[in-house]
Amino acid sequence: MSTATYATPCPIWSDWALDHLQVGLIILDAQHQVVFANQWFLQHAGLESCDMLNKTLFHVFPQLESSHFGMFLAQATRSGFPALLSQSLHPTPFPLHLPAAQRGQDKLLRQSIRIIPMSFSASSDVDQRYTMIQIVDVTHSVLRERLLKAQASKLQSLANLDALTGLGNRRMLNEKLAHELRVSTKTGGNLAVVIFDIDYFKQFNDIYGHLAGDTCLRQVADALRDVCRRPNDVVARFGGEELVAILPETDQSGAMQVAHKVLQQVQLLQIPHAGSGVARILSLSAGVAVSKPLQSLTPDALLGLADRALYEAKGSGRNRVCGFDAQDALIVTAM
Ligand code: GH3
Ligand code: MG
Ligand code: MG
Repeated sequence: MSTATYATPCPIWSDWALDHLQVGLIILDAQHQVVFANQWFLQHAGLESCDMLNKTLFHVFPQLESSHFGMFLAQATRSGFPALLSQSLHPTPFPLHLPAAQRGQDKLLRQSIRIIPMSFSASSDVDQRYTMIQIVDVTHSVLRERLLKAQASKLQSLANLDALTGLGNRRMLNEKLAHELRVSTKTGGNLAVVIFDIDYFKQFNDIYGHLAGDTCLRQVADALRDVCRRPNDVVARFGGEELVAILPETDQSGAMQVAHKVLQQVQLLQIPHAGSGVARILSLSAGVAVSKPLQSLTPDALLGLADRALYEAKGSGRNRVCGFDAQDALIVTAM
């Protein structure tokens, strides 16, 4: 390196560099009095150097004394080993404000803080020891991480949703059903499953067109969502025009009632269906099955039972709910 690099005396360059550094620097003496604070720190703290110099750090920022930062500082000073404050556990130890233009929901700058004890080799005198505190602004990376997490969870929920109806899709149905069966085995509770199927939907599409059929499917899905409102209820599209409700902690008669309510809700919509063999409006059929405590049914077996009940509902006239009681006798609630 040529000597021309240092056209001006070195200390001036180092002062200039310290004051232009985009990192906060504070140097404390052994009594934790501030002997130096750079421009970046003063600006973000909204202080003048006279507000800090020759004062103890805890006098300037009293809230720090009993904080984790205070504990880490004491530890680092005692041990002589550097300390790093995790930005996720201690996001804003110093009251450093974000510039107005960057303020969103956060008013304070997110900080990554290193506490670096500096011992000068010339002296082993404890009173000659200093501590440097380095504060890095990590607001942008925290915000980016938050955005990525939000996008990832949005993608995750989209991957579980049916695009047409907004209900859960088959994948979600499989996962939730397996999960709820495990829960009901553990808790000894009932778990009900209802399969709903639109009556004469092929004719509906043939008469009113596929787009009208899609709209109708969305309306039925909304009705199902409206009725199955308990926090652990799950509603999903099984496939085609078949929708499913998973109803934890629900017995046979409870599930039959819920299913009946869904049929009523759809009836209230009064969607014209000139091709229906039931009435002149759109209707549903439903099959109910319940996994009872200690029964240990698999998801497929439970869905199979509900499908069998649905088959009975279709065969016995549609526009009704069917299930089987404990003796395997058919129960029907017709509209
Ligand atoms: P049933 O009363 O016995 O249930 O008669 P159905 O005509 O409803 O039964 P089927 O299973 O024969 O026909 C289901 C129809 O559902 C056929 C298909 O065109 C329609 N379908 C399935 N998925 C969709 C969809 O996403 N949009 C529309 N518009 N129609 C669909
Ligand atoms: Mg069908
Ligand atoms: Mg159908």
